[in-house]
Amino acid sequence: MSTDTLPVIPHWINGARTESTSGRTAPVYNPATGELRAHVALANAEEIAAAIASAQRGFEIWSAFSIAKRQTVIFAFRELLNARKGELADIITAEHGKVRSDALGEILRGQEVVELATGFPHLIKGAFSENASTGIDVYSIKQPIGVAGIISPFNFPAMVPMWFFPVAIAAGNAVIVKPSEKDPSAALWLAELWAEAGLPAGVFTVLNGDKLAVDGLLTDPVVQSISFVGSTPIAQYIYETASKHGKRVQALGGAKNHMLVLPDADLDLVADQAINAGYGAAGERCMAISVVLAVEPVADELIVKIQERIARLKIGNGAAAPEPDMGPLITAAHREKVSSYVDIAEADGATIVVDGRDFRVDGAEDGFFFGPTLIDRIPTTSRAYTEEIFGPVLEIVRVASFDEGVALINSGEFGNGTAIFTNDGGAARRFQHEIQVGMIGINVPIPVPVAYHSFGGWKASLFGDAKAYGVHGFDFFTREKAITSRWLDPATHGGINLGFPQND
Ligand code: NAD
Repeated sequence: MSTDTLPVIPHWINGARTESTSGRTAPVYNPATGELRAHVALANAEEIAAAIASAQRGFEIWSAFSIAKRQTVIFAFRELLNARKGELADIITAEHGKVRSDALGEILRGQEVVELATGFPHLIKGAFSENASTGIDVYSIKQPIGVAGIISPFNFPAMVPMWFFPVAIAAGNAVIVKPSEKDPSAALWLAELWAEAGLPAGVFTVLNGDKLAVDGLLTDPVVQSISFVGSTPIAQYIYETASKHGKRVQALGGAKNHMLVLPDADLDLVADQAINAGYGAAGERCMAISVVLAVEPVADELIVKIQERIARLKIGNGAAAPEPDMGPLITAAHREKVSSYVDIAEADGATIVVDGRDFRVDGAEDGFFFGPTLIDRIPTTSRAYTEEIFGPVLEIVRVASFDEGVALINSGEFGNGTAIFTNDGGAARRFQHEIQVGMIGINVPIPVPVAYHSFGGWKASLFGDAKAYGVHGFDFFTREKAITSRWLDPATHGGINLGFPQND
């Protein structure tokens, strides 16, 4: 509970900011300065119930809107977002710490899904088979499922909710977004934008909170589906708990993404991309590259090139002008965790080529900065190799062959993203076929699929069957009915037949 005079970030329930009376809050920092900027409300049982009840009412109103009317609101939201995205980028940079151009980048990737959703009628229309049996037509229709819960992580406070809510809302559902406690303001801003676009009250709800709010969504019978993105242990908990309560679940988890570099690759391109994908957003991306698998003899040369580029990186407050390349980590506690993984790597015998542990930014000593770190010869048995670090730490593993690299990637717990760098089309083709990972880049380090393909990993990176957005998204947020219909020809009648219906 806060004792200062800082603002308490409220919920958004029934189309309005709703102050919390729970008496429970969590701190929200500006990670670049280390300054406490606000507190966020943590919902109690009554607030959770109010959010769900209002969403159910919103669903009943919204699902009765015609497709044309729903489309008008989504187009209006898209126009407002496009015109005012700079405001949202400022909020993200202030609470998450990523540099402003990167904040804008995440909004644009989310906006792609809004744009996909504007064309939703094509994606939810059913199918019709005339005269499937003599005089009988069979058709299917797709209806919204009801109230959809969306639980998001801190690292993409705008984009991750936008992977789900444009699709869910377009399909006629109401959503309850439970943002990360660490950067909750983006969701509230999006709620206000929806209201301005003409979305009825209750269709977009923001429920701020912690495990209590999450568990409320997982167990309440009104909530029909859960879309979760976060760490693997929580994703697994979400999947198991929500499934047990009869809900549809898509729970996206953690990652440890590898870049396989073949000896024929252009090493300058590889070094540039390893830097971008390893240190962008301070490594706090589920699609960040964490491990470079260098097929020998390229490792030594590549390390020199990466080191040269690290030396040129500018690290600082992401809101500053000129903009730095990389901002801070999300919290002081997370910085300690990232640092502890470098300790583990060192204790396990790895070579710390560039050490970011004691890195500080002049004039921002209280910011949660961690310097870009490069680790060579990380043993693949080390926890610093097998586990997700989620910081600006790039690890090099030297392998003797393509096959050894592929086997190593396939032996990992996660299967979110991976990339191969080569000029050999045959090797790239074998890679895409043999690798057990959901999203693959060929000379592309962060292969986040466009909105009309779907996003999701394999193995411990995704629990459930449905990926985010694209066709998967529309299937997830709709329920299909199949109708078999016969309008009797006045000249004939069916007669009595107790057998199982057969087609003729
Ligand atoms: P997190 O798992 O700590 O939190 C995610 C959400 O779950 C938050 O809203 C949080 O409030 C809630 N939560 C946390 N602990 C909970 C508990 N015990 N019970 C119920 N709810 C709980 O994740 P994070 O630190 O916010 O985000 C980083 C993680 O998200 C990384 O592991 C990253 O790889 C992953 N991520 C994955 C993807 C993907 O597409 N696979 C995308 C972005 C982030």
